Amino acid sequence: MKLKEILNKIFLIEIIKGLSLTLKMLFSKSVTIQYPFERRKIYPGFRGKHALIRDPFTNNTKCIGCMRCSTVCPSRCIHIKREKVENKMAVTDYIIDASRCVFCAYCVEACPVCALVLTEDFEYSTYSRNTLIFNKEQLLKNWDEFVQKWPQDLYFNKFWQPPGIDPSRWPKAKREQKPIPLRRVVEIKKEDNSEPADN
Ligand code: SF4
Ligand code: SF4
Repeated sequence: MKLKEILNKIFLIEIIKGLSLTLKMLFSKSVTIQYPFERRKIYPGFRGKHALIRDPFTNNTKCIGCMRCSTVCPSRCIHIKREKVENKMAVTDYIIDASRCVFCAYCVEACPVCALVLTEDFEYSTYSRNTLIFNKEQLLKNWDEFVQKWPQDLYFNKFWQPPGIDPSRWPKAKREQKPIPLRRVVEIKKEDNSEPADN
């Protein structure tokens, strides 16, 4: 055994080093928070609860049923039902099994009309797996609920415009995509729900 190691053992140097680190951390600022009483700021682009954007002009989804999202999904958890109505493809149902999703956002990137989003809402834990299977109505409801909570008037998801791809190769709808004015969506919904005025 070397002299240095013998001195370390006699004077308990390693233990003193460990205790001094403990003492230092005792007076440093805590990195943990008291969730759910305290919440961290959620940054735009956080990949949370799935939603289909409600088009403020049609009050329906913007989805055109192109199947790109379900094709690109590595978890195969998107199922789209569609049928032809008057020579146009109509989406009759859109199902995402969120319990199988790995939150890669490939579906959001692939969507040519920016109809789909992984909202910043992350508080949807549940005891039932079935409640994590979102159908079209639920996905639109997820968007409505998210809009109510989102503090800003505009919403833009960074995954709508995938990095690393020449923007000239994006579909036109993606190139021209602007932040969505959320309050207008809410206003339209309120108008729809308002009672007809008495004559
Ligand atoms: S985020 Fe990824 S895994 Fe989840 S539905 Fe979209 S493509 Fe599939
Ligand atoms: S990629 Fe977009 S438009 Fe196409 S089916 Fe999926 S959500 Fe609908």
